Amino acid sequence: MKPEESKIFTASLEKAAIALLRLEVFRKPDDLARRFGLPLPVPRHWWRNTDQKTTPIDTISPTPKQAKMIRRATQILEGWEKIKRYRPDCGASLNNGKRCKNSVAIRPPEGWDRGCLADRCRIHGGLARTIRRKKTTDVDE
Ligand SMILES: [Zn+2]
Repeated sequence: MKPEESKIFTASLEKAAIALLRLEVFRKPDDLARRFGLPLPVPRHWWRNTDQKTTPIDTISPTPKQAKMIRRATQILEGWEKIKRYRPDCGASLNNGKRCKNSVAIRPPEGWDRGCLADRCRIHGGLARTIRRKKTTDVDE
């Protein structure tokens, strides 16, 4: 997943999570986080940035439109587990001429507006707060 894709994917996760919280399919961001294996602070962070208004649906008999919306949002959020498990390799160049095989880092919640996945592993600056302006040859270790 490229940085731009990570950003788009993360935005779709956020939108889906907020939709489900607004409909009170999940009453609390933490419930949603647990259901989909998201880091707990992430849905909290998203929800805090909204007006937190909800319009509860009748969960027994939602309208077809609501049912479809819930299904779609659930599918998007279920995609997270797979993204998390199959993160791409860091790929930074090592001194021995090989490339780093570690998975790219998962950003802390406040960094998710730049995408849930960093473009490097922890060792190679995946969690750095500054954005690298240009591609440099990473030599490390
Ligand atoms: Zn690395």
